[in-house]
Amino acid sequence: MHATRAYSLILTDIGQIFTAPLNDPVRTGTGLCIAADEQGTIAFVGTMADFAKSEPGYETRHKNAVVSAEGRAVWPGLVDSHTHIVYAGTREEEFAQKSRGASYAEIAAAGGGILNSAAKTRAASADELYRDAKKRLLQVAAYGITTVEIKSGYALDTAGELKILEVVARLKKELPIEIVPTFLGAHAYPAQFKSDHDGYLSVLCDEMLPEVRRRGLAEFVDVFCEEGFFSLAETERVLRRAHDLGLGLKLHADQFHALGGTELAARMGAASVDHLEEVTDEAIALMARHGTVAGVLPITSVFSRLPFAPAKKMIDAGVRVALATDFNPGSCMCGFLPLAASLGATQLVLPVEDALRGVTLHGAASVRREARKGSIEVGKDADIVVMESSSWIYPLYHFAHNHVRQIFIGGRPFDPAALLAEGTV
Ligand SMILES: [Zn+2]
Repeated sequence: MHATRAYSLILTDIGQIFTAPLNDPVRTGTGLCIAADEQGTIAFVGTMADFAKSEPGYETRHKNAVVSAEGRAVWPGLVDSHTHIVYAGTREEEFAQKSRGASYAEIAAAGGGILNSAAKTRAASADELYRDAKKRLLQVAAYGITTVEIKSGYALDTAGELKILEVVARLKKELPIEIVPTFLGAHAYPAQFKSDHDGYLSVLCDEMLPEVRRRGLAEFVDVFCEEGFFSLAETERVLRRAHDLGLGLKLHADQFHALGGTELAARMGAASVDHLEEVTDEAIALMARHGTVAGVLPITSVFSRLPFAPAKKMIDAGVRVALATDFNPGSCMCGFLPLAASLGATQLVLPVEDALRGVTLHGAASVRREARKGSIEVGKDADIVVMESSSWIYPLYHFAHNHVRQIFIGGRPFDPAALLAEGTV
């Protein structure tokens, strides 16, 4: 008697699989196969010969579910664990100023930067924000991204921050992409609270956070801990309130100055600390001890002329390093996540396995999705990307080019380009 299991997807004739886990991250051979059950969970990873043995006659019984990869390589669906893609307006004028040598701080002091986007985002309607964000999201989904974290933080008042998170909730409802919402009301001090930090912290802690929690609009709370933004004490006040409300913690820290935010977040059990260009050895040791994921953003380093975070040193110290885009209209106008992995290999000098793990398995850990996302293993969601190439390394090597041929989310085909072409967004 053979099994009579029903499958949503039987992906056959795979040349190579980057599965991602530390032990055995790559499967090669002729004729590999991945099968997903009706719930979209991976039920089998191995050779076609072994699959045929356990499921004789599967071709005829599952005609509609069988898809041939024709010898190509597959990756797990990519996880972008750090984005700011819901905003209004663009900032190419600041880009031009930067091209003439202006610094981040100079642009912020002249009313540019985050506050520039915040004014435009507050003025935009929820429908406008939704339409723009959906388009941006489908564009990056075409690069193989099947899980994405999205932060608020471009309104900096209660109504506006809630509006952004409602847009994220709508995207989550309408698209099969796994979306992880993060509240980043503590992204900058709005102009009217420039010399009244305590006033804005009260709005954050007494008004915004309880309302975000009540409406279930965010899983994580994030703070920009940096000179000129949120001090260590101010960061702690927001994180403590978030923690007391039962929300997960993330942090932007050590981008320009090491203020102690990474140590604080690690001790408080944060899921990740991101940026880390200036991270100290003590902070790295604490992240390793507490299992805090390091979110490294190499495209931002390139776009904003910043040093690279010491990713290799952190991995060697036992820290899981996620690589993300930081897609935002100021410091990194780029959502091309495979580029983060390519830069991981070339600029951070990470072995290709670690570089690709950064945008898959460790990205999933950064958003607490490692039980279901980020690798090709039995029991995980069948979020799978078929590449044009037969080599799993080739798309990293031939960089800044989209090599995606086909995407599956939960074992079902997903075609973001077709959704964009429909013209509904
Ligand atoms: Zn960021």
